[in-house]
Amino acid sequence: MLRTYKLKHSINQGKQKKILAILKEYRNASVEISNRQWIYFYKNGKFNRDLKIDTIKSKLSKRYKQTAQYQVVSGLESYLGNRQNEFKDYLKNSNFDSDTKTKLYYINRYKKWFHSSIKMQGEEIDQDIIRLSRRIIKNIFKKNKKPNFKFCNMALDAKVMEITPNGIKKVHKSKKVKDENGEFILNKSGNPKLKTYIEEREIKKSSFDYWIKLSSLEKGKKIYLPLTTNSYFEGINGEINSFIQINFQQDIDKINGNKSLSSLNRLDYSNYKIDVCLIKDIKKEKYEPKIEKIGLDLGLNNLFATNLGELYGRHFSKLLKEYDDIISLLAKNRQKQKIRTLSKKYKKLINKIKAYLKNEINRVINAIIRNNKPKEIIIESLNFTSPKLSKKLNRLISNFGKKIIEEKFKSIEEKYGITVTKVNPAYTSQTCSRCGYIDKKNRKGQETFICGFCAKEQNADINASKNILARSSGELKDIFTKKAFILDKTVKNFIERHLVVLLYIFKTKDLGKSSDYTLSKINNTLSKIKYNNNLCYNSLANTLTSNPYLTNYLNGNFLETLEVSR
Ligand SMILES: [Zn+2]
Repeated sequence: MLRTYKLKHSINQGKQKKILAILKEYRNASVEISNRQWIYFYKNGKFNRDLKIDTIKSKLSKRYKQTAQYQVVSGLESYLGNRQNEFKDYLKNSNFDSDTKTKLYYINRYKKWFHSSIKMQGEEIDQDIIRLSRRIIKNIFKKNKKPNFKFCNMALDAKVMEITPNGIKKVHKSKKVKDENGEFILNKSGNPKLKTYIEEREIKKSSFDYWIKLSSLEKGKKIYLPLTTNSYFEGINGEINSFIQINFQQDIDKINGNKSLSSLNRLDYSNYKIDVCLIKDIKKEKYEPKIEKIGLDLGLNNLFATNLGELYGRHFSKLLKEYDDIISLLAKNRQKQKIRTLSKKYKKLINKIKAYLKNEINRVINAIIRNNKPKEIIIESLNFTSPKLSKKLNRLISNFGKKIIEEKFKSIEEKYGITVTKVNPAYTSQTCSRCGYIDKKNRKGQETFICGFCAKEQNADINASKNILARSSGELKDIFTKKAFILDKTVKNFIERHLVVLLYIFKTKDLGKSSDYTLSKINNTLSKIKYNNNLCYNSLANTLTSNPYLTNYLNGNFLETLEVSR
């Protein structure tokens, strides 16, 4: 598994200029390569990373162009893979007859939409069906923007760069190859065949941990980029790949306050900031799960609550609120002064919040895994906002925070093999995890949940996380289950589960009047759910009859409908 790590670099202005000069050429070449690849694709039905590149006009060396071509093709292939999945989904829901479907699946599976003739199990597929597949995929293409390499970053491999650890010099050498008799092997032109190899020599250490030797636009001239690592990077168990990623973005610290981010010219390279990333090939960590499943509720009050009663990230909302107040103040001041742009201070703060979110989310999820060692994590599909925060911050959190959580879950799936299952969160915060009673009024404010039926009081987020866990098995586990269906089932389950008690409540509303066998049985049930006091029944009956979920389900006539369902 490959992971990318941004490292601190000390690239001076002169080198920065040279790298940006490469970037300009690299992007232009990539756009051209991409155009050529699409032409090739429509003709041959596939991309080709070894396409001739000599005729691409560029200051880049052939090796650079080839590197760009690899990057472009892998970008295009990943685009194509996603479209292929959409094609599959489309077929799933289509009404074609099964023979047509099978053939379309086949064409899609091998991405042969643009082949002129296709054989399936020795038989030619009808041209009509091939044309149909082409129409479908073209429609899907239309809905999804093709990758644009105008603003791409650079993924560079050993063809144009070399990574050397501090204190080591890599020397390229070659030697003449001999056969088993000790004779030189000759090449076509009669000269001894050469084999190249790299010799590592120890040299005096500098203060940097790695050097990247990068080919420049001038032949034979290299740019040396010094990198400094950190204990986090060094602590990760894995080999450094001979592949780097150089990323570019507008440097917000350099941008004057009189411009807004969106008005920036992305082609104005003087604003660019360079990030250099090394890539490590990580070994899967040994992980022995201790429990099957854990349910997580994501909230802003506590970042996560688990069905085991734990709360994680308890100061999360407090700190966010503090940030939010500063943001609102900054925005207000600027509005007063009629400045319609983003200040440096503001942008810095946004970056700070982003860093905080990332740090906190990673820390908390790591802690949950460390403490519980689950085999599977059940989580609601993410909805991550709070009425307490401003619109701006809510947007930031729900976009950026969501992305980070998704990334984190992806990485723990890869790293530990933990499955992450999403469930539909509808009504999980209104339903009692103990008795199944569903009512908006169950929730008392942000923190507390008090069940109107069984009177169980617990932390609202923990209650929700228990429901989320329960939803991972049974009839409501499909994430696409309609909300109305979930409500219907939840109410129905509640009534079935407590039918005897409910009937009793609506029949007499006063236990003191009867004294038969049924009564003791009911009393027994009721005492289990805390209502062992006669006085409560009336208020309980009132609670139930004023609950719109139940009223709608039972058509308003409680006793009658309950009797029937008995
Ligand atoms: Zn309850």
